[in-house]
Amino acid sequence: MADEPRPTIKAHCPKCDGERTCDVHGATTTKWDWEDKYSGNSMNGGADHSLLQCRGCETVFYESKSWNSEEYTPYYDHMGEVQYEADFNIATYPKPETKTKPSWFEAMRKIDPQLHKILSQVYIANDNQAHILTAIGLRTALDRGTEVLGIDPAKTFDEKLTDLQDGGWIGQSERDVLGVVTDAGNAAAHRGWEPDGQEISPLISAMEAFLHRAFIVGNKALEIKGNIPAKPKRLPAPIA
Ligand SMILES: [Zn+2]
Repeated sequence: MADEPRPTIKAHCPKCDGERTCDVHGATTTKWDWEDKYSGNSMNGGADHSLLQCRGCETVFYESKSWNSEEYTPYYDHMGEVQYEADFNIATYPKPETKTKPSWFEAMRKIDPQLHKILSQVYIANDNQAHILTAIGLRTALDRGTEVLGIDPAKTFDEKLTDLQDGGWIGQSERDVLGVVTDAGNAAAHRGWEPDGQEISPLISAMEAFLHRAFIVGNKALEIKGNIPAKPKRLPAPIA
């Protein structure tokens, strides 16, 4: 039997970080069913698994395209009947090259290990498309960042942003964007808002711009830290 041409599909090559024509070296499908016999609730789903090779850079990678009975989008077909299309969840291994951390990122470890740790986890969450956790993490990083600068942790977020602006660490436009970081973290935590990668990206950039100016440029933070009293001003003064 003559060799048949290898099947190809379009897939997101993790190295090219874009959609490419890929050879399909192997593929299989798995399915699952879940049923609660007491409530009668049931759910099912499945995944297509493929071993692919990019025809451009020749990288070999695995792709899974999964779906389930709870996530779908209704649409009308040409007869006007409602049809359902599954919302596919596509994952590749290895993952696409991740967003690069700024060159000064490691320097943050020296300035404040806690802030460095929070930021590390923000990048991990972002790399894994955990956008809700990324938004919450950005808010936590902003909280910690203002605290390291000596701003009273008991203040509201709005007051903290005012202090940042008054202290010259941010301008009006950065204040507006960082206000979104606050709202984004709140909305994700309390109102179930789920940002996508494109919405998260500018928030991360705004946070990086703030941190860069506050902690890296001229290392202002350390100078200021030396000038402020150890206790935040809203806390009761120590009894002498
Ligand atoms: Zn490629």
